[in-house]
Amino acid sequence: MVREKGDLCMKYFAAALTGAALLFAQSGLSQMGSPDAPAQPTMPAVAGPLAAKYKADADRILQAAATDEDGYVALTYLCDHVGKRLSGTPQLNTAVEWGAELMRKAGLQNVMVQPVMVPRWVRGSESGTMMTDGVGAVNRPLHMLGLGMSVGTPVEGITAEVVFVPSFRALDAMTPEQVKGKIVVFNPGWHGYGVNTQYRTYGPSRAGAKGAAAVLVRSATGLAMQIPHTGTLVYDAKAPKVPAAAISVEDALMIERLCKEGPVRVHLQMEAHMEADVQAGNVIGEIVGSEQPEQVVVMGGHIDSWDVGQGAQDDGSGIMATYEAVSLIHKLGLKPKRTIRLVFWVNEENGDRGGIAYRKMVGDKIGDYVAAIEMDEGAEKPLGMGYGGFESMMPGAKAVQVSQMPAEDQRSFAALQDIASLMGSIGTDTVSQGGGGSDIEPLVADGVPSLSPRTTAAHYFDWHHTEADTLDKVDPVEFNKNAAMLAVEAYVLADMDGRLAGHKVTMRE
Ligand SMILES: [Zn+2]
Repeated sequence: MVREKGDLCMKYFAAALTGAALLFAQSGLSQMGSPDAPAQPTMPAVAGPLAAKYKADADRILQAAATDEDGYVALTYLCDHVGKRLSGTPQLNTAVEWGAELMRKAGLQNVMVQPVMVPRWVRGSESGTMMTDGVGAVNRPLHMLGLGMSVGTPVEGITAEVVFVPSFRALDAMTPEQVKGKIVVFNPGWHGYGVNTQYRTYGPSRAGAKGAAAVLVRSATGLAMQIPHTGTLVYDAKAPKVPAAAISVEDALMIERLCKEGPVRVHLQMEAHMEADVQAGNVIGEIVGSEQPEQVVVMGGHIDSWDVGQGAQDDGSGIMATYEAVSLIHKLGLKPKRTIRLVFWVNEENGDRGGIAYRKMVGDKIGDYVAAIEMDEGAEKPLGMGYGGFESMMPGAKAVQVSQMPAEDQRSFAALQDIASLMGSIGTDTVSQGGGGSDIEPLVADGVPSLSPRTTAAHYFDWHHTEADTLDKVDPVEFNKNAAMLAVEAYVLADMDGRLAGHKVTMRE
């Protein structure tokens, strides 16, 4: 089944700001509920046999994590000295080599780079201007950022009248004459990341199919700070490819106001284009299991970032917190029965090639995968772990309470609540439905239980995919709490008797 990838980052994000509805996502495999699905209650910790067995080890991990600085020091280097690292750039390959060396120095075993060919999208120079005529004529530059994978404009740019579109429904209701040759500006308001990224991902082709010359999309953020947020688009093969860019919330609102007064024109110039694929790779290291080394708990995040900011929260914090977690287990001399494998996947932002290549490499050994854990939601204050990979958590599916799930699923949630009870002292002692990530999606589709940290995510989308995603946004104390939680979780899952239930999830278009 062909599956279109939508937004390639943060597909599994819970709407922590509202504390209620979970956001749906574009990909058929999202583990989150849709906005209209009933909110899933967060389950509290319940100490049981796992807590009794692992209390001493968990306490050692939590204590060590409170003062260990290696992970944050590495994140600082990655941000300040490697910096942004879009797929296909030399900076990404520098990060890959550096990541492998970091794992080696930390004493992880079987460190390797799995070669992966990644796309190279080049932004080039870009600019935009909004204009009106007559009394009080407006002529001012747009705060814009081309969308990843967009085509460019002709060298001279595109100048066209704007048509303001508040929703896909409104676009559908327009005649081709109303759209043809125009620059469509989408501003649906802010309905959460899952809803808004639909416009970023699919808006360009939806408008292109109706004859639009180009597309501007309000940035997918709830915070208006005059900063555009990039992200990938996905072109429909059947529609003309038109250039597309994100604009700041403020500019989207101003265009909306101006459109009520009369005609508005935009001049857009973008050099964006694709070049030949480049070899990069997934960085892999292990703590080899002492009794069942063939069985694996895989954990990580993505090493690539957008070409703005430093990729600090997205997803430097994810790869470095999982690195810190695995190296803490190693430093403490803990030897889980199963293997814990750390992976920095490549190309999550604009292609998911790393996750797909990793699944291929696993091949028919997929049954040995005990759990897949991905951190890609920032390292803000952690609340607990989310557990996904269920049909009932798919977009549009009817939500199911844990008490109505099959016995093996109920046992799995109980085991996670048991593990969560080990983490009361750092406040991460909850379990919620829904957890996963783009990189582990191909594993989860084949039945591997998926998990991801849940945080308050109070500011994640303020900085996400912008110049502002820099190291200073990552609080070292919260970063270490995320690492501590991941270390306890991965260690117990890799060592305990039995394993979590997994389900082959049917993909939906
Ligand atoms: Zn990400």
